[in-house]
Amino acid sequence: MTACPYCRTSEDGAHAFDCVTVKKTVRVRATVEYPLQVPAHWDDDMVKFSLNESSRCADQLIDDLRALITDETCLCDYVVHEVVSDEV
Ligand SMILES: [Zn+2]
Repeated sequence: MTACPYCRTSEDGAHAFDCVTVKKTVRVRATVEYPLQVPAHWDDDMVKFSLNESSRCADQLIDDLRALITDETCLCDYVVHEVVSDEV
């Protein structure tokens, strides 16, 4: 066993508390605001129904977001994260 390359803890010791390898789980909220194409005649209620209550699977969001990623852009322009609680 070799010393940790991050906290330089000795070979037989535990990692330092502030070592990046010591993890905890937190609950976070990601708010995503992005352009989505919908039928032109839909009002806001129809869009909300389609996204939240119709048979559309929320997994579609992954494809919608992936489509925003190009060689020039990433999701950083669309997403804000916040911590909801320190423990799950
Ligand atoms: Zn370490």
